[in-house]
Amino acid sequence: MSLLLAADFTPDALQDWAAELRTALPGETVLTQRSAAHDGEIEMAVVANPPPGALQGLPRLRFIQSMWAGVDKLLRDDTIPTDIQLARMVDPAMSTAMAETALWAVLCLQRDHFRYAAQQRAGEWRSLPQRRADETHVAVLGLGEMGRTVALRLAANGYPVSGWSRREVVLPGIETFIRDTALPALLAWADIVINLLPLTARTHSLFNAQAFAQMKPGAGFVNLARGQQVVEADLLSALNRGHLRHAVLDVFQTEPLPAAHAFWSHPQVTVLPHAAAQTDLRSATRVAVANLRAWREGRPVAHLVDRARGY
Ligand code: NAP
Repeated sequence: MSLLLAADFTPDALQDWAAELRTALPGETVLTQRSAAHDGEIEMAVVANPPPGALQGLPRLRFIQSMWAGVDKLLRDDTIPTDIQLARMVDPAMSTAMAETALWAVLCLQRDHFRYAAQQRAGEWRSLPQRRADETHVAVLGLGEMGRTVALRLAANGYPVSGWSRREVVLPGIETFIRDTALPALLAWADIVINLLPLTARTHSLFNAQAFAQMKPGAGFVNLARGQQVVEADLLSALNRGHLRHAVLDVFQTEPLPAAHAFWSHPQVTVLPHAAAQTDLRSATRVAVANLRAWREGRPVAHLVDRARGY
């Protein structure tokens, strides 16, 4: 029986990764390509952003381990039978990376470092009013593996932090809210809103004109989750009207962000190339291997995706 690797990696990177998996799983045949001769043997797949249809027509496939935390794209691929178990990547190294990105964005927004960078480009020497961390309210939407780590890191740096999730979460020093009815007040309270929600039917286009209008005038918006959760024209309008001060965007409706997109040159937008928390291949491979062994030995598998919930 075999394991298939399917990823949007360069051929060299795919081979390096396959070698690592072969060392960790000596009993498995690790394939990096589909073939009529071997498709019938594939029981497990390890995937990193595979193109839709990459896992179609594998009659024995029973378990997929994603190397990405977000699995919305895999769930949208209707060529993957819904009875195949799907686990997503939960790796503390990725959560730490996300917390670093969030802290950088919050510090730059609080202390106006994006504006200072623009002033430097213009040769302008001008100090701006200084804001305090303990007066900068941060709302973290989504308190899962990423959101919790982000919220705790920000609170440890002196920011008053509130969070939002579906189920109750208790986090030291952080006020948490559930239910859709809590969202408008949370958006109105925050000086900086960070999105770390998974993309689902309920979070698609959540950040629209209404949500931006509910945010405090002069607020900052940080999207580290998925581009489809933001109505980009509504965000541009909120920035252009001066209602929002600045947006830090790591994810977009279309990726790579098209060359002509207004975000690239907008003075109130900072663009990252979907790099807020990249998969750390070494640590993520350890997580994946533990799960693949568990599945092979019939033990419970960690971080299975709930298809009905959508994440
Ligand atoms: P997770 O552990 O599944 O956590 C998701 C959180 O969102 C949970 O707190 C969940 O609440 C909450 N949630 C989901 N739907 C909600 C709703 N309708 N209303 C309120 N709360 C809701 O996910 P994660 O590992 O933290 O990752 C979050 C997302 O980050 C991923 O889905 C992915 O899109 C994105 N991501 C981006 C990058 C990057 O580099 N930009 C890297 C990794 C991940 P409950 O727990 O109560 O259900």
